[in-house]
Amino acid sequence: MEDMRLALVLNAISPAIGGVLVRGEKGTAKSTAVRALTAVLPPVEVVAGCRFSCSPAAPDPQCPDGPHPAGAAAQPRPTRLVELPVGATEDRLTGSLDVGRALTEGVTSFQPGLLAAAHRGVLYVDEVNLLHDHLVDLLLDAAALGTSYVERDGVSVRHAARFLLVGTMNPEEGELRPQLLDRFGLTVEAVAPRDPATRAEVVRRRIAFDADPGAFVARFADGEAAIAESIAAARARLAAVVVDDAALELIATVCADFGVDGLRADIVIARAAVAHAAWRGADAVTRDDIRAAARLALPHRRRRNPFDPPGLDEKQLDEALGEPDDGPDDDPDPQPPRPEHEQNGGPAGGKRDSVPPIGATFRARRLEVPGKGHGTVGRRSRAYTDGGRTVGARRPRSEPRDVHLNATLAASAPHQARRGRTGPGLVLERDDLRERRREGRESNLVLFLVDASGSMAARRRMEAVKGAVLSLLLDAYQRRDKVGLICFRGSGAEVLLPPTSSVEAAASRLAHMPTGGQTPLAAGLAEAHAALNRERLRDPLRRPLLVLVTDGRHTAGGEPDAAAGRLRRDGIAAVVVDCEAGPVRLGLAGTLAEALGAEYLHLGELSVDALAGSVRAVREARAVRGEVA
Ligand SMILES: [Zn+2]
Repeated sequence: MEDMRLALVLNAISPAIGGVLVRGEKGTAKSTAVRALTAVLPPVEVVAGCRFSCSPAAPDPQCPDGPHPAGAAAQPRPTRLVELPVGATEDRLTGSLDVGRALTEGVTSFQPGLLAAAHRGVLYVDEVNLLHDHLVDLLLDAAALGTSYVERDGVSVRHAARFLLVGTMNPEEGELRPQLLDRFGLTVEAVAPRDPATRAEVVRRRIAFDADPGAFVARFADGEAAIAESIAAARARLAAVVVDDAALELIATVCADFGVDGLRADIVIARAAVAHAAWRGADAVTRDDIRAAARLALPHRRRRNPFDPPGLDEKQLDEALGEPDDGPDDDPDPQPPRPEHEQNGGPAGGKRDSVPPIGATFRARRLEVPGKGHGTVGRRSRAYTDGGRTVGARRPRSEPRDVHLNATLAASAPHQARRGRTGPGLVLERDDLRERRREGRESNLVLFLVDASGSMAARRRMEAVKGAVLSLLLDAYQRRDKVGLICFRGSGAEVLLPPTSSVEAAASRLAHMPTGGQTPLAAGLAEAHAALNRERLRDPLRRPLLVLVTDGRHTAGGEPDAAAGRLRRDGIAAVVVDCEAGPVRLGLAGTLAEALGAEYLHLGELSVDALAGSVRAVREARAVRGEVA
């Protein structure tokens, strides 16, 4: 918890650091800590009546409620904590501009959003990794520029929006895109305290708070007042803190050592080190300030693969930083390095089970759900979306925000004479307004149902199958899908991973997936159907794609045809990936694909290169036929 507190305090001292991303599992009291920090921030002075929190000393010259006269009345208020809910609309975030009124009445009417409310305060996004991509983009643009800019069809509003951005996320539920990760100044890993006394104290405080919040706050108020004073003092000292050339060179050395691209990490570390020095009451940045800043600024910026563990190697950091300021370390670590924690597989269950390694991966072709959905923006199946290209116009169901100007003008044209138009300008009425109908791509739920029975292991096919599934998982990561993993073997089916956005978790379960035993195909289909039904209740707009990896064989449980028919009747889109190999083939997977109404592919046809090859082969065959004919 100490890292998190430090990261929040440093940002409170110097908002230019760029915010904090708190990563941690549920139950690590992330939001409690954010609320506690807001409580200790010094109050702000605002122009009375301004909805955009202008400072009386320096009002925003572009303030939509302005211009404010020089001697405008001021009022103090506590620093706000504004929470952005994951399901918020763009209008809720940026504010809404009534384009209809602008077109029909000629007035600019702007309703401020959460970015305006958060100006000079804290903007808190719980589960920031679940936020729509385009909302994250808007949010980070505003955070970087200190301004929110809203434009709809030529009507625009701009206002100041400077805030301390705090996001929390549970990495088990999916990662942020790397370019968005980089926009957060600092990250901390929140872990539940292991030490029993600390855990008990956390619970005791929580109970005390729930029982009597007023008394609880009063009890800690003295401590909070002291922290608020220290923050205010550090802010005042900030501009005077010196970063000399040696400190800047040390920062550059550390960034180079961790393979960080670009200069953003250097800048963030320098700013955080300055804030750290100011917080200590010092007037120059030292090695220790740089170390404290680097620990928080580097973990999400170092070069890493999507499936590497999070966090920072502190030993590497100390080596990059060189000797401490206060003389050489007399007592180098006497412990020999401990062996890496054993990651592989655990016990392999029954004696005939094995855990085959993951075979070669490849760039997978895009599998998609037929038809058009209304799901979350992504890169897989076709869908009606907020973004994407315009495919037509429609009457708006509520306030229009994405006005289709041509369609609006066309709708008004037949009524001009009746409306008494005399000049060159069209006379518009609200009823004329049309909005764009756009089409783009949505993300989906890709549920993998994998045959992990003994026949797959015996023929050493499981390596290739795991490689193929991992390739499809990497593809799902790029396309922003949710994924799930179910395997069937032995006496039944097992949900290895319920639907999640964490492709990392799926890859890890896949790596550890044991193989062996009989082939209960019908049980697998039934388990997948049940999982899809559960997920439809939780996330109804997300269309699923069932990817069944099998050779079509079944040696245990009932006949698969009935279970396949039920999936088909429920309209579940499916792809059967046939992994049958060898000279004599039974073609059972093809029959199963027919029963499911599924697309049918052989394992070897999953890669983009194979697809390109087969397209070429078809073209060449046609060309040859053409020449012959
Ligand atoms: Zn104002």
